[in-house]
Amino acid sequence: MAERNQVQPDLAFVKGVMEAGGDTVNRCYQCATCSIICPLSTDESPFPRKEMLWAQWGLGSKVAGDADVWLCHNCGDCTKYCPRDARPGDVLSAIRINAVKHYAEPKALANILNTAGGVIGTVIASMFAVMVVAFLWSLYTKEAFPIPEGTVVYHKFLTVIPIDALYLSIFGLVAYASIKGVLQFWSDISKGAGLRDSFTGKAATPAMGPFLVKYVWPAVKEILTHERFKKCGETAERATGHLWVLWSFIILFVVTIIVMIQADVLAILFPDAGFETPLAQYHPVKIAANVGAVMLIAGIWMLRNMRNKKTAEGTITSSTQDWILIWLIFAVGVSGVAAEIIRLADVAILAYPVYVLHLGCVATLFLSIPYSKFAHLLYRTTAYVHESWARDVRAGKAGFGLEKMVTAWQYEGKDVH
Ligand code: SF4
Ligand code: SF4
Repeated sequence: MAERNQVQPDLAFVKGVMEAGGDTVNRCYQCATCSIICPLSTDESPFPRKEMLWAQWGLGSKVAGDADVWLCHNCGDCTKYCPRDARPGDVLSAIRINAVKHYAEPKALANILNTAGGVIGTVIASMFAVMVVAFLWSLYTKEAFPIPEGTVVYHKFLTVIPIDALYLSIFGLVAYASIKGVLQFWSDISKGAGLRDSFTGKAATPAMGPFLVKYVWPAVKEILTHERFKKCGETAERATGHLWVLWSFIILFVVTIIVMIQADVLAILFPDAGFETPLAQYHPVKIAANVGAVMLIAGIWMLRNMRNKKTAEGTITSSTQDWILIWLIFAVGVSGVAAEIIRLADVAILAYPVYVLHLGCVATLFLSIPYSKFAHLLYRTTAYVHESWARDVRAGKAGFGLEKMVTAWQYEGKDVH
């Protein structure tokens, strides 16, 4: 008797989707209303109907390696019109959380940073690490510990060099996990789209130079302007808050790099040249930092309000992971501004603990990039790039691999509908 092909459901994936707010998935009866309603779905590869089917079947790896999951911005338009109340927007959101865990390395960190207790524990552990570094620094400088004498100056408590060592260690882990996750994701979505070497079966890799100019840069520009995000109907106002948060991160990142160069390099090389921190309030870098901090708090507060309103209306469901990211970003912004205000007020007994709290929140947020909902930064950008590149490959406008190898590759077609 011939063996029957059987689909083996990934039960851990199904459980993960259910727990992350996708427990309505089995109500779907494949009417395709959602794919028609979705303002971001394309004719070439409509979603989210097919993802609902794959999730029902428990095809964890297939869904995790589906670029379309990341083209969704969770606007809730499809959820509003689904005749079965299967809540496809929420299911896709739950799939994304599980996709992040699927690509996370080490996975234990993803499990920790996707729970409220785990995030609070990481903040406390980071604060402890900062205190240890500060204590060691006080032994070296012979400054009092934990509260240095005199006017509040944070680099008396913890100069930038040891804290840089701490943050660079985190950066190393974040960079490793991010690059590994993105490369694996790219490989999976290329294979899923049929873009693979017909001889080896390996995923297609494009030629790098033109690829950066023609596909990566337009995707980055689209993200910086939120052009696609603005097409969402039900939660269109979310784009504004999200844009504020995105730009505040960019501003604060640039400012941090400038201050690091100034304090870690220039102030040491040229001790009498006036490169000391803290910067004066009228210094352009300080002004930019303050603007970035206010934008961060205002933007995340807009997102919080929108999420509360839309959750109350039933348009979207908010998972623990949604709230973790919102409150962690809020904690970073508020603790940063509080540390600045208390420093200016010169209240040492409060200033140093708040500064340590701020550093703990920043370290945790930074660490969570490849492990939490924050990873949408990585995977959505990759999906944007892949979408336009794959479209050109299908249209014969782009090759992949080294040009001399192009003949050895073939587009196998995408069987998704
Ligand atoms: S999720 Fe709802 S709208 Fe979409 S195919 Fe299923 S039943 Fe239809
Ligand atoms: S939530 Fe919005 S973007 Fe996502 S699939 Fe539904 S309609 Fe499309």
